Amino acid sequence: MVRRLGTFTLRREGASWGGMEIAVSARILGDAGLFTDVIRHEYAHMLVYLRDGSVRHGHDRVWKAACLEVGCEPMATRKLLPR
Ligand SMILES: [Zn+2]
Repeated sequence: MVRRLGTFTLRREGASWGGMEIAVSARILGDAGLFTDVIRHEYAHMLVYLRDGSVRHGHDRVWKAACLEVGCEPMATRKLLPR
């Protein structure tokens, strides 16, 4: 994982969607605030999927509402400051 700070992934199991995974970049492990925000960002994607079963929301208004519920800024991307 180079460019993305986090991902939410659904895995295929046969003809249907199976397991879910949230992954974060090792680059954010030293920044507790950013780590928490990225986890919440990805969890908002998971929450939207769990509620309606769609993987097509992306960063739309449904996802933005979920972000506010889980306590993160509804921003699609974050700039990572150079160390
Ligand atoms: Zn996202």
